[in-house]
Amino acid sequence: MNIILFGPPGVGKGTQAARLKEAYNLLHLSTGEALREEVKNQTELGKRAKEAMNKGELVSDEIVVGIVINTMEKASGKNGVMLDGFPRNIPQAQTLDALLSKRNITIDHVLSLESDQEIILKRLAGRRFCNKCGKDYNIYFNPPKVEGECDACEDGILAARADDNEKVHLDRLNVYASQTEPLKEYYAKKGLLRPIDGMGSPDEVFEEVKKILN
Ligand code: AMP
Repeated sequence: MNIILFGPPGVGKGTQAARLKEAYNLLHLSTGEALREEVKNQTELGKRAKEAMNKGELVSDEIVVGIVINTMEKASGKNGVMLDGFPRNIPQAQTLDALLSKRNITIDHVLSLESDQEIILKRLAGRRFCNKCGKDYNIYFNPPKVEGECDACEDGILAARADDNEKVHLDRLNVYASQTEPLKEYYAKKGLLRPIDGMGSPDEVFEEVKKILN
């Protein structure tokens, strides 16, 4: 089973991705996560991506598609691929179609998480990640047991992402509306779009996801 996790920044794609990956043994490909690794490791690719990421803009299709191709090669032993944060515009979707058809792979579902902009902005403002294991929290919706500390790691400290500030959030939502949202129609026409109410708790949303996949 191959799926695309779709939705605006902050809607909860990462949270659902962690659950889906475990429950269905999928290769999780988050282009945002892969890009952050490149930036952290100060690779050539990371240096080229960093500026766009910090401004909330899209990184060039060439860089992102390269990452997707490299990761897809590692899908053996898994039940399929889960794309998270990719594609982000129509050209990326067309490139993906070409890549998949060459490998005889098809997308089964585009899970489209939907939410109000007000809730999304609050979710984005409250996001924190553990500096050790990467586990995600939200100080408003999913706080850790002890403020600022990871529940899972002994000495994990929670911090916001470099691109988590209000100006960047609004820019990212604008980029989403103009470049990414048109993909809904693209996938609806292919009969693959599965809208899901993303405003419930992570467990409630996951129940909806399972109803579609099972
Ligand atoms: P994310 O973790 O998915 O929110 O992505 C963080 C940032 O990485 C985005 O704001 C973009 O700058 C960049 N990025 C992630 N995925 C893509 C993509 N498919 N195309 C272009 N840029 C991307």
